[in-house]
Amino acid sequence: MEASENCSVKVAVHIRPLIGDERAQGCKECVTVTPGQPQVQIGTHSFTFDHVYGNGGSPSSSMFEECVVPLVDGLFQGYNATVLAYGQTGSGKTYTMGTGFKDGCQTGLIPQVMNVLFMKIEELKHLVEFQLRVSFIEILKEEVRDLLDSVPMDKSVTANGHAGKSTVPGRPPIQIRESSNGVITLAGSTDIAVSTLQEMAACLEQGSMSRATGSTNMNNQSSRSHAIFTITLEQMRKIHSASIVNNYTPYEDMGEEYLCAKLHLVDLAGSERAKRTGSDGLRLKEGIHINRGLLALGNVISALGDEKKRKEGAHVPYRDSKLTRLLQDSLGGNSKTVMIACISPADINAEESLNTLKYANRAR
Ligand code: ADP
Ligand code: MG
Repeated sequence: MEASENCSVKVAVHIRPLIGDERAQGCKECVTVTPGQPQVQIGTHSFTFDHVYGNGGSPSSSMFEECVVPLVDGLFQGYNATVLAYGQTGSGKTYTMGTGFKDGCQTGLIPQVMNVLFMKIEELKHLVEFQLRVSFIEILKEEVRDLLDSVPMDKSVTANGHAGKSTVPGRPPIQIRESSNGVITLAGSTDIAVSTLQEMAACLEQGSMSRATGSTNMNNQSSRSHAIFTITLEQMRKIHSASIVNNYTPYEDMGEEYLCAKLHLVDLAGSERAKRTGSDGLRLKEGIHINRGLLALGNVISALGDEKKRKEGAHVPYRDSKLTRLLQDSLGGNSKTVMIACISPADINAEESLNTLKYANRAR
């Protein structure tokens, strides 16, 4: 398969400014960027990435264009893609992705994806029939939780195609399934068909709110869970003799061609080590599970990035966690992946920022 030839994982670093709390504590900045280069220094360590944003690097405003637009373009050509925000709690993951109900929802990457998506659909809709679906889930303690389970009945369609609300008290847990052709689906989660930007934005807002609510009730859950906003784009177009373009041979069905691809936008759990606070066994367990997802992700991405190993057909350990299992058909192969490593510039966070840069460096 040509798949392994163009496997692409890009890694960007996003350095946020010092925030109020850090200033109040008198923190100094301990992260520097080499002018004009995607290179970051912290202490005696230096790392080079595909892009560095903020703190003297490229402006954060160019992140979307440089890192995410190519993935959205790929979506229209039928390629799956994943954007991952990695970093310790407080480093700016939610702000960067736009999965925060309050401050990220306007400026983050997801709202920008939605804008571009609907602009492109508007341009092409006279040629192609589009169908968009959205799901928004959270993985906590190796369990999948639906963040859209309270969306009105007529809007929701479960993954196995039945109309109606998928979430009832005592419902069976959401399961990750793999079809014979390697397509990963979630059985039992809400998959909402959307036709306007407003409808999609409402899903983002509602899921973000659901996540935030969970966090105040349940011991800051949101820093321990992975939140995954998934946009699925289906396209149906009439076959003309010249319609097979870009060497892409689509699946043909009754004189029409059909393409389906998804984009996962992932706000990962905080990467800080589980802290042994007192005798709180539950907390420790959560920490261990989160580490399982992040650990597996690091191993998968590093296996994908190792060209030599890939050519030898090395094992990619997707099955080691729910997170990597769910993203399996959207990491590697023909799919495009961008990891955005988020860091605080403050000296008090130096150790965690260094850990983040090391993790991100392994992904390259
Ligand atoms: P995380 O999701 O990694 O825990 P948040 O996204 O919640 O972190 O960010 C922590 C705090 O820093 C929030 O108050 C957020 O508004 C602020 N923040 C994060 N990134 C930026 C940024 N690029 N510019 C300004 N403030 C930011
Ligand atoms: Mg967050």
